[in-house]
Amino acid sequence: MKVGFIGLGHMGAPMSRNVLAAGHDLVVHDVRPDAAAGLLEAGASWAGSPRESGADRDVVITMLPGPSQVEEVLLGPGGLLSGLSAGATWIDMSTSVPAVADKVRAVAGSSGVAILDAPVAGGITGARDGTLQIFVGGATEDHLRMRPLLEVMGDTERILHVGSHGAGYTVKLMLNLLWFASVTLTAEALTIGVRAGVDVATLRRSLLTSAAASHFLEHDVLSVLERGDFDDSFALALACKDLGLAVDLARQTGVPAEMSAMVEQIYRRARAQYGDEGGQMLPIKLLEDLTSTQLRLSSPQE
Ligand code: NAD
Repeated sequence: MKVGFIGLGHMGAPMSRNVLAAGHDLVVHDVRPDAAAGLLEAGASWAGSPRESGADRDVVITMLPGPSQVEEVLLGPGGLLSGLSAGATWIDMSTSVPAVADKVRAVAGSSGVAILDAPVAGGITGARDGTLQIFVGGATEDHLRMRPLLEVMGDTERILHVGSHGAGYTVKLMLNLLWFASVTLTAEALTIGVRAGVDVATLRRSLLTSAAASHFLEHDVLSVLERGDFDDSFALALACKDLGLAVDLARQTGVPAEMSAMVEQIYRRARAQYGDEGGQMLPIKLLEDLTSTQLRLSSPQE
């Protein structure tokens, strides 16, 4: 297939590399031309604008920070939509919101361009290994037509068609909301327990054999507990964007979401404290700093 890829950051660079490695003809674009260097060396071609990225392409994937960039890339001057021909498909794999894609679909009208939202989970490891989880929203026939391309980036078993347009974005935002809530609440439970005198390894092990066990406590928190690594492969600026979008969605759907709003505020505090590029688990450090209590295992996998 002739594929275009826009947004070559932490996620987009390894994802597009997998598209290229699978034998597709690949054109790439980013506001930072240097982000494409490795891909051009590997055989991709450069497009000077989103519009150029769409010329002559069967499908163009976007992997951008959030809604405002997606709107600019699709509908702004030199935008992608104006470069796509009838029969082409736009797949947005960014964590964004249904409203922006709705706007693009309204402008696309009867142009014959198919649109899917297909945001992902699995981080840069999943992006690099081609094992991402992908939540697809849109028409079934478009999902089935694009599935072989999605399988180059994702885990076949975990590429889920979750509903019509926008459903993929919604599922992804709810996943992140729960995960960020796990970060903040796990930090509180571990800090309280340790300050009350229980060893952090014992506390974690005990919780893992209880009804309070979680994927986060078993796996993700280990980078902090073992190495003091707060995972800067996913920036606090993006985490705050996702939480803001989740809280907006709660407002739009009339759901009171006190806990979600509090998690968002904690993340905004961490961003103010450690900066936009700080890692997504820094809310744990906030509590460590406030209480002078470092959560570390004395030996790995203790
Ligand atoms: P990133 O900031 O590393 O990459 C975004 C890329 O988009 C950058 O290369 C940037 O230069 C480019 N870009 C920004 N505006 C642009 C524009 N107007 N035109 C062209 N290019 C533009 O972000 P990321 O970590 O790769 O995340 C991308 C998306 O995936 C986000 O929506 C994020 O929420 C989501 N996501 C990230 C992770 C992760 O672990 N990093 C995991 C799952 C989902």
